Amino acid sequence: MRYNAYSDYFRQRFGTRVQKLSVDAGFSCPNRDGRLGTGGCTFCANEAFSPSYLRRVATVTAQLDEGIDFHRRRYRSAARYVAYFQAYSNTYAPTAILRERYDEALRHPDVTGLVVGTRPDCVGDEVLDLLAGYAAQGYYVAVEYGIESCHDRTLRAVNRGHNFACTAAAIRATAERGLPVGGHLILGLPGESRDDILAEAAMLNALPLTTVKFHQLQILKGTAMEHQYRDDEAFRQLLPQFALEEYIALVCDLLERLRPDMVVERLAGEVPPRFQACPERSFRRSDGRLLRNEEVPALVEAELARRGTRQGIRADIQNMNQQSTPSL
Ligand code: SF4
Repeated sequence: MRYNAYSDYFRQRFGTRVQKLSVDAGFSCPNRDGRLGTGGCTFCANEAFSPSYLRRVATVTAQLDEGIDFHRRRYRSAARYVAYFQAYSNTYAPTAILRERYDEALRHPDVTGLVVGTRPDCVGDEVLDLLAGYAAQGYYVAVEYGIESCHDRTLRAVNRGHNFACTAAAIRATAERGLPVGGHLILGLPGESRDDILAEAAMLNALPLTTVKFHQLQILKGTAMEHQYRDDEAFRQLLPQFALEEYIALVCDLLERLRPDMVVERLAGEVPPRFQACPERSFRRSDGRLLRNEEVPALVEAELARRGTRQGIRADIQNMNQQSTPSL
């Protein structure tokens, strides 16, 4: 492939297919429980604002059993599994509780590691040391940070509650412990031009990131952003709108500028249509059919092939050199 696909990364690392299994361990988020704020990020789906004590979450073990059963029926060939602590901020609890939940996942006989999704302002030395301790025992342990944007003005506009310096510090502190670090970015946040988005590649290149996920902004029902979109013409004017071909071209431009060693886990996102507040913004094929997420890699690959380029061909060399000497 013309970019570093995540499936290849796991295959090279483990010698087999590895499946991430999503787990909701019942954690909360400081941007909605009052510690930082109650409104949350403006793009965050309504469900995310329900108090965690109202959520009917099965045990970590039960969720893993269910996920493994589903994937074994779907793919038949047995794979290895990592527990993906995905919902909310999965380092936002006292360390004793975090240890309890992570230990439970790692006690599962089919689970070989953890991927922990969180906000960059929710990690301290104690939790990073805890995670590094699991890695020292031989488990695969990665941390995925919600970066969302590298631009502070955008982070303020979406009420993120932290700035990019906080993101960079958390990524560096995690990588310094030898843990693979992932980052998640939303493409097309309000006020960001195409050039602003492409400029993010150099900012990502300067960080010790192992993996990165991109997805297009989707306005979901019940979010603060849905109300902005419906009620505020000035806000709508700030929102970039990409047709499918434009989005594929943008992703290819971004990949060309991205460090060639960075592993790309996702190129676009897809939520079920019932959650979409603005279906008119969804990507459609030329026959009017809604684009499925799994169709995106082939479209990106075809566009890179048409251009005769690949990931990293236009990466910022100066920033790539800075990446090798991270500091806090
Ligand atoms: S997107 Fe994440 S950090 Fe933002 S409000 Fe929702 S759960 Fe919290």
